[in-house]
Amino acid sequence: MVVSLNHVQHVLEEIPSPYQTALTQYDRAVRHLSMDENLVEYMRWPRREFTVNFPVRRDDGRIEMFTGYRVHHSTVMGPSKGGIRYSMNVTLDEVRALAMWMTWKCALVNLPYGGAKGGVLVDPKSLSMREKEGLTRRYAAELVPLISPHADIPAPDMGTGPQEMAWIMDTYSMTVGYSVPAIVTGKPIIIGGSQGRTEATGRGVIICMVEALKRAGMVDESKIRVVIQGFGNVGLHAADYAHELGFKVVAVSDVNGGIYNEHGLDIPEVRRHYTAVGTLEGFPGAERVTNAELLCLPCEVLVPAAMEGQITENNAPHLRTKLIVEGANGPTTTEADDIIVDRGIHLVPDILANAGGVTVSYFEWVQGLQEFFWDKEEVFRQLQRILINSYDATAHMAEHHGVDMRTAAQMTAISRVGEALKTRGFYP
Ligand code: GLU
Repeated sequence: MVVSLNHVQHVLEEIPSPYQTALTQYDRAVRHLSMDENLVEYMRWPRREFTVNFPVRRDDGRIEMFTGYRVHHSTVMGPSKGGIRYSMNVTLDEVRALAMWMTWKCALVNLPYGGAKGGVLVDPKSLSMREKEGLTRRYAAELVPLISPHADIPAPDMGTGPQEMAWIMDTYSMTVGYSVPAIVTGKPIIIGGSQGRTEATGRGVIICMVEALKRAGMVDESKIRVVIQGFGNVGLHAADYAHELGFKVVAVSDVNGGIYNEHGLDIPEVRRHYTAVGTLEGFPGAERVTNAELLCLPCEVLVPAAMEGQITENNAPHLRTKLIVEGANGPTTTEADDIIVDRGIHLVPDILANAGGVTVSYFEWVQGLQEFFWDKEEVFRQLQRILINSYDATAHMAEHHGVDMRTAAQMTAISRVGEALKTRGFYP
């Protein structure tokens, strides 16, 4: 097929580059900070980028080549930290953006980590369990020179979970000759995972939502309609916790579209249906909506918890929400950000709203290194404390400088990393 250049350019223009979004956010934030320009330039760059092409044996005996990445954006505050995603949208540009956001996220919640991210260009649903194990182990083997409990610690992200972390932990441990549970976080509890890690990101999103509503004087849970895009690692647990607290979750969705009931969905029933059928489709007593329609449903809170670039200049004017709490990384483009601010919609940015995941990852890492494990109550108590402190710091920064919450969160994080960098100095 011959594709005309115009067509290619059109397609490229339609997909906003996540890294461009990350850099624009960075430039906007540093404008308000009186920071040495050498520090500003240094922190714009990813420290290292790794690309690997590797073979996987398919069940029919064929060898197929796959491409994976791992980017270390920063190691200024400590070992780099960040998830690994399996998705058909993985590009070096995307992984770079996600690694940069991890740097700011960890700094914002005061974790002693830098930022990293990894990804493999694959549709995880197209692999059998055996193929997925083969792919994960080979990718992990390729990462061995880059990762260690003191250098770079992977975790789950889109399309990966505890099982993939177990395979990575095992592959690394087999390579070095002894068990190293602290090499990854988000692993199963039986091999050193933390209580509460699976729910942590979604729970953190709702902790931030409750805080934002409280500050806006919106306190009657039963009157608050919540729309959630995404029913994966983040969306599912956000829906669960919101429902448990008495909020009215009126819509949820997965990649194939969503379900909507203006009176609220019975989330435990939706979960049962989803587990049994593998899709939200056919859930009784709810209307089908597309993902585009879902974003513009009338609600008090919109939680984009799927992927980047979902709220754009095209749909931002049509949103019918008072508050956006970003469960996904980078779900809002910069053009949309401006519209949201102009329209007076309050937004809790990704690096704050979804920081619950990496925060409990940190707890898991600490517990693993100390070989002393906490109960779930302790994990959730510490999670709540850290997120509320970070929310406070961000809101304070926003008020003090008269900026929106995204800019304030980035400013708080960037100034901390900048201060650490200045203190350490430039090598040699
Ligand atoms: N992938 C998650 C995130 O985007 C968690 C990363 C981690 O726990 O290291 O924050």
